[in-house]
Amino acid sequence: MPEGLSSLAKPLVLVVEDEPALATLLRYNLEKQGFRVEEAGDGQEALNRIVESQPDLVLLDWMLPTLSGIEVCRQIRRRPATRDLPVIMVTARVEDQDAVRALNTGADDYITKPFGIEALLARMRALLRRSATMPVKGELTFHDITLDLAAHRVSRNDRRLHLGPTEFRLLEFFMQHPKRVFSREELLDAVWGKDIHVEPRTVDVHIRRLRKSINADGELDVVRTVRTAGYALDTEAL
Ligand code: CA
Repeated sequence: MPEGLSSLAKPLVLVVEDEPALATLLRYNLEKQGFRVEEAGDGQEALNRIVESQPDLVLLDWMLPTLSGIEVCRQIRRRPATRDLPVIMVTARVEDQDAVRALNTGADDYITKPFGIEALLARMRALLRRSATMPVKGELTFHDITLDLAAHRVSRNDRRLHLGPTEFRLLEFFMQHPKRVFSREELLDAVWGKDIHVEPRTVDVHIRRLRKSINADGELDVVRTVRTAGYALDTEAL
């Protein structure tokens, strides 16, 4: 069993990869670590598989036949049933800008080829911990926002909000510590986990997505940017 997941059934990972040798290697290593694995060789097949098999996590290659990984990711986020599905984008591109683009289309994380299996496992564990093994009691409120931990639901002014898994964890963390300013590093430790290396800039991407998800036109932006220091959940403008 993967570390930290011993009380759960074996998580199902959908490996979307058009290079058969790499897909086989990933399947071998992931199964050895206690995951169940299904494969899809192109983007369209990936979308079909997601509906049929309801995986716990998708490992999504960027460059794919029929539909690109970016387009598959967009469609995953667009559909209510898969909006919260954890997605790790696998990219052969090394430019940082592409990684940021992957996150902007809704991927929760990314990894660049070639990668070691340990680095991949660390990211997968962190994501699965966040999405599946949250303590589930009670409700948090801040200003006009309510976060229901049991139902995994967020609303503002009785309007249902749709957040990705990372944005949900970010908001939950902020709501547990309202008005406190956190640095990007503190947020990475608290939300992504200490055992995983993520660029601090990744935090900015998810903060932007969080703002977009919770602030409707004309509504108060409750996420405060504190220059050089970080971010806070706060109703008072700087
Ligand atoms: Ca490929």
